[in-house]
Amino acid sequence: MISEKLQNAINEQITAEMWSANLYLAMSFYFEKEGFSGFAHWMKKQSQEEMEHAYAMADYVIKRGGTAKVDKIDVVPNGWGTPLEVFEHVYKHECHVSQLIDKLVDVAAAEKDKATQDFLWGFVREQVEEEATAQGLVDKIKKAGDTGIFFVDSQLGQR
Ligand code: MG
Repeated sequence: MISEKLQNAINEQITAEMWSANLYLAMSFYFEKEGFSGFAHWMKKQSQEEMEHAYAMADYVIKRGGTAKVDKIDVVPNGWGTPLEVFEHVYKHECHVSQLIDKLVDVAAAEKDKATQDFLWGFVREQVEEEATAQGLVDKIKKAGDTGIFFVDSQLGQR
């Protein structure tokens, strides 16, 4: 059985994952409007992945005898500048999510809940990948410049 404190902390993270899903969906819509259909596709997939994180956390809370909650999702930003600015925002956001997950591990440790710590390590590892992927795309877009940007766009459309 999961403690109420830890259940509530994971529920907050579910809200954060859903906020991330909305952020990336907003970025997807932005890119679609700007004519970057590859980036738009990538962002939609990214958004779906964040929803999968929320589902996995909810499943886990329920499996441990807790109650999973769908809470109010705050409004996300809308409208960016260049693709580089958007992906820099993605990188910054993923670093923020990594901090949230780390704090969640701290709560699980304080609650002496080994199963939840084990469950959360998967997300700690996931964040290493998320940060590396976002940083890699920032670097790639920088190198591509104005002339190569549509090549990167079509590449990300393959995701
Ligand atoms: Mg996530």
